[in-house]
Amino acid sequence: MTAVNPKARRAGAAVSGLDVAKIRQDFPILGQTVHGKPLVYLDNAATSQKPQAVIDTLVRYYTTENANIHRGVHALSQMATEEYEGVRTKVRQLLNAAEDREIIFVRGTTEAINLVAQAYGRQNIGPEDEIVISAMEHHSNIVPWQMLCQERGARLRVAPCNDAGELLLDDYQRLLGPRTKLVSMVHVSNALGTINPAKQIVELAHRWGAPVLLDGAQAAPHMSIDVQALGCDFYAFSGHKLYGPTGIGILYGRAALLEAMPPYQGGGDMIRSVTYEKTLYNTLPYKFEAGTPHIAGVIGLGAAIDYVNAIGLDRIAAYEEELRQYGTKCLSTISGLRLVGTAKEKAGILSFVMEQAHPHDIGTILDAEGIAIRTGHHCAQPLMERLGVAATARASLSFYNTREEIDALVKGIDRVIEVFS
Ligand SMILES: *Cc1c(COP(=O)(O)O)cnc(C)c1O
Repeated sequence: MTAVNPKARRAGAAVSGLDVAKIRQDFPILGQTVHGKPLVYLDNAATSQKPQAVIDTLVRYYTTENANIHRGVHALSQMATEEYEGVRTKVRQLLNAAEDREIIFVRGTTEAINLVAQAYGRQNIGPEDEIVISAMEHHSNIVPWQMLCQERGARLRVAPCNDAGELLLDDYQRLLGPRTKLVSMVHVSNALGTINPAKQIVELAHRWGAPVLLDGAQAAPHMSIDVQALGCDFYAFSGHKLYGPTGIGILYGRAALLEAMPPYQGGGDMIRSVTYEKTLYNTLPYKFEAGTPHIAGVIGLGAAIDYVNAIGLDRIAAYEEELRQYGTKCLSTISGLRLVGTAKEKAGILSFVMEQAHPHDIGTILDAEGIAIRTGHHCAQPLMERLGVAATARASLSFYNTREEIDALVKGIDRVIEVFS
């Protein structure tokens, strides 16, 4: 056991030594009241709140620096270009990718997956080929592959999970074979919190020569990621879940694969030269960044990465794990409440159902108490069906959440029981 300074504990700090009271000061929105109650924001898996540093960076960019990039010889354009490209380096370091050109700016995880499905998939996946996903995918890691399969006559295979929401590795392994042309799996499940054995998933797929995409939307904000250690071929995440702006996300791709892929969209910036007869495409990463990108979003994401790095992703993971264990313990004692998703390896997501009330009613009553959670199918309808629930209530944690907020959630749930009994 690590000794904990009792004063630090009172301020919301845990064994990780995070000064959460101080961190909360960085997030202006957390100081608000909702329906006359202090806001308790537990919907971080849907989107995270933004620290002042990110908000200030956006204002500074538009106030003093706004210009289009890669085009102008003028000072503002050069400054904006430098900052934009500087963030590419920051993302490369965040993921421990080998080269800056392996980092593509996209709108979010959804666009990253669609890019791979269209650019890689249409070129490399044909009739009778198979794409393997898992039973706990977000719709954005199902539908693009279904569309591709329909177009190319390929087949989607689904690796099952057990009742706890853990991937069944043996079954996954049995699905793989010479027809497997791509594996695309979620790193951390948004609906259940399951942390998948990404490295093993990759190793098994590579035995058949199939590249692997990892959907890191719920992983990148909560743990350190090393794409080279994972061995994955593509990695996707969204800026807005990593404390950055909406509308910006990342696709990491292994250079050799990206080089061989045709462009995803055509337009400005992705070309080297254009004539009516023939267009020469630009080099990586610009080949995949057609049109004026979300420059402010990229620069804001850079500020978010700086912010998270200053705290440290390992400390964030340790603190959120401690909070998850506390939350799990508290919710487990409530009679009539059942946690959905009880994998051994889990991130800070507490999905649950109650005998007393429908998830939608739970969400509505909690909202009246100032507590924001998500209710519904969490963009994972096939997973809900597999687990035999139509919907769940989901509290998802961040490093700015506290034990006091978990206590408020428990009190809110007591209120739900009161209303429905
Ligand atoms: C949020 C999420 C997505 C989709 O991300 P967007 O930002 O909406 O593109 C995909 N997968 C998982 C696991 C998610 O949590």
